[in-house]
Amino acid sequence: MAATSRGTSPVPPDVRPRLTVLSGPSGVGKSTVVAHMRKAHPEVWLSVSATTRRPRPGEQHGVHYFFVDHDEFDKLVANGELLEWAEFAGNHYGTPRKAVLDRLEAGEPVLLEIDLQGARLVRQSMPEAQLVFLAPPSWDELVRRLTGRGTESPEVIERRLAAATIELAAESEFDITLVNTSVEDVARELLALMRVV
Ligand code: ADP
Ligand code: 5GP
Repeated sequence: MAATSRGTSPVPPDVRPRLTVLSGPSGVGKSTVVAHMRKAHPEVWLSVSATTRRPRPGEQHGVHYFFVDHDEFDKLVANGELLEWAEFAGNHYGTPRKAVLDRLEAGEPVLLEIDLQGARLVRQSMPEAQLVFLAPPSWDELVRRLTGRGTESPEVIERRLAAATIELAAESEFDITLVNTSVEDVARELLALMRVV
């Protein structure tokens, strides 16, 4: 593994991990890395979460998220339709259960891009999952990326940075850390961890 990683994959080299969870502070580059990876390998299936957050410019319902209101989200929770869910920086996010279980049953590699609370819940319910933490090269660079994205108000950026300090402190709970200095390198390492290449 390249110098951008810390820790080791818990999955033996000849075994294909079925479920991989990617977490890391807001703005670290999770969506960018996953998009880059899936451009070359569209067969990697990424779970589409439900969220009460408003769409950012360019985000499409059913592609980036299922954008729902609070009542719809509460119904998903009440009906047991979410594998896990959490509140993050004032919005609710959850992983639709059935789509994930169908893919896993079909033996396909599944990727979840979820927050720390969700990663912890998945670890409890599916201990065989591989947990990958995406870390920024530095705190200042994280702030630059989150601010530079230009999608959140200063208040929301503050909330997300407060969450980031908690998430960064939990890095050791993950099986492996990838430092997002280069999108290309991290995408390659993630594919290797998922045994897609
Ligand atoms: P996340 O999904 O983790 O919240 P994004 O993927 O939206 O983060 O990335 C946040 C910002 O950082 C975006 O503007 C993106 O273009 C930029 N970014 C992502 N990865 C890198 C990188 N390796 N180097 C420089 N900028 C990056
Ligand atoms: P964003 O609003 O930037 O798209 O996402 C905010 C945070 O919510 C990110 O850490 C992202 O990984 C996380 N997230 C997205 N979908 C889910 C989900 O289904 N469950 C959980 N627990 N977190 C999610």
